[in-house]
Amino acid sequence: MPSFACTRCGKCCMNFGELIRIERELSGTEFSCRFLITNEVFRARVMPEWREIFSDTAEVDAHPAWCRFLRRSPEGPGFVCTVHDSNASICREFRCCLMRIYDRTGRQVGKIGGNRGLISEDECLNQFFREHVAVIEGSSLKDWLGKAGKALSSAGYRVVIYDED
Ligand code: SF4
Ligand code: SF4
Repeated sequence: MPSFACTRCGKCCMNFGELIRIERELSGTEFSCRFLITNEVFRARVMPEWREIFSDTAEVDAHPAWCRFLRRSPEGPGFVCTVHDSNASICREFRCCLMRIYDRTGRQVGKIGGNRGLISEDECLNQFFREHVAVIEGSSLKDWLGKAGKALSSAGYRVVIYDED
């Protein structure tokens, strides 16, 4: 299975502003934080190479939904996590795409997001997903993905499942 490749589009971090709370500023570059869903406490340290862009808060101030540690990459398109080495476990484990789904012609018709939901504008696929995939039970994500992949393959779709590395 291929590994998931993050494109650093930043979209996931743009919704984490309310979930990753800075509870205490220990220094200008070190913060005691909490991930509110799991109550995980972590100490975020701004990486030396990102200290300069971290000090510019104009864009993050203008977007309250963004995580406070997100900044636009100065080296081209995309975003950077300025505390990449010390962020929350959810940040390291998050996968926005678990599976890509292609039709018989090789056209991508949908993908399965990190919450096991289908993202697709193809009505046939949406219907098939509702009737045959959403109902699948799986004890683990890997198990669920395997069963979902088999169901989709049996209906003629080709799937690419991303592993957890
Ligand atoms: S995990 Fe997904 S949404 Fe988040 S930055 Fe990477 S590609 Fe974008
Ligand atoms: S700590 Fe980093 S990876 Fe986690 S949500 Fe914030 S910017 Fe994104």
